Amino acid sequence: MKKTDIKSLSLPQLVREMEQIGEKKFRAAQLYEWMHKKLAEDFAEMTNLSLSLREKCAEHFELTVLHAVQVQESKQDGTKKFLFELPDGNMVESVLMRYHHGNSVCISSQVGCKMGCKFCASTLGGLERSLTAAEMLEQVYAVTRKTGDRVSNVVVMGIGEPLDNMENLIRFIRMLTDEKGLHISQRNITVSTCGLVPKIKELAEEDLQVTLALSLHGATDEKRRELMPVAEKYSIAELMDACRYYFEKTGRRITFEYALAGGVNDTEEDAAGLIRLAFSVHAHVNLIPINPVRERKYTASGREAVKAFQRKLEEAGINATLRREMGRDIDGACGQLRRNHHKKK
Ligand code: SAH
Repeated sequence: MKKTDIKSLSLPQLVREMEQIGEKKFRAAQLYEWMHKKLAEDFAEMTNLSLSLREKCAEHFELTVLHAVQVQESKQDGTKKFLFELPDGNMVESVLMRYHHGNSVCISSQVGCKMGCKFCASTLGGLERSLTAAEMLEQVYAVTRKTGDRVSNVVVMGIGEPLDNMENLIRFIRMLTDEKGLHISQRNITVSTCGLVPKIKELAEEDLQVTLALSLHGATDEKRRELMPVAEKYSIAELMDACRYYFEKTGRRITFEYALAGGVNDTEEDAAGLIRLAFSVHAHVNLIPINPVRERKYTASGREAVKAFQRKLEEAGINATLRREMGRDIDGACGQLRRNHHKKK
């Protein structure tokens, strides 16, 4: 029989589980605290539970813990990239970035990805499976344990399409921001999507205060279709409607992610199109010089072109940040570390 994944259970669900195995309700709160606040790695650590209860838990439940099989530290900026092994042997990657305003962890939401973006390494091998809530939480927990530092920001921008794993994503966000767990502020969580219109609307209904980042990368349907197969399914007009809906429901401003590929989407005309779109939904823009992936043909726009593009947006009154290219020297782009690890094997 497959054991219950105890770390993915909400507190009310855990209370029910305790009742089912004939334990008192308050044990659930103790267990929850050990898992989500004290970040215990083993039932044996939970010393305010009786030995017999700890044994019973080990018998009934699986306690998901991730192990780092590889850690790379950037010499340029201290960014750390972790390759984690999941309980079934699959691998995902997470990145710790240190900023002045605190530590930010970028986590994966799936093993692989089926969205097929033409510049991305994560999607090259297709989708293996979605991650459980516990596996997403554990990326944050394992980084916290390893570094001893508090994580203040979490971005769901690693491997996978988070909105293609909606139920577990929502559970993950609620548990991560719960005061009985790490209690990270919802406003410090960003979820990035390639643009699944119905799912953006669903997320808007969840009454959360998280930031939504939309990977736009092109200002016309035509350009977007060149780069992202998902653009065949949803038009930019539909996407902008979904963004406006998200903003109205949550009051949170959207961020557009825009990866600049040399000679592809970095002309003046592209900037003008992007400005129009950003205005229409009050979006911030985050520019990222594309990170070249060996199997892909795209190269980053030159430094001057990037600066000029950013200047155009700013002159138009759009808030445009240039994402610091952190961890370039350590397979920084999505899915590259996992992919290179697979190849070596
Ligand atoms: N599937 C989600 C989240 C994961 S990708 C999404 O599409 O948003 C996180 C961000 O990195 C996205 O904006 C994605 O388009 C971008 N990205 C992927 N590969 C990249 C590369 N090689 N260079 C720059 N950005 C890249």
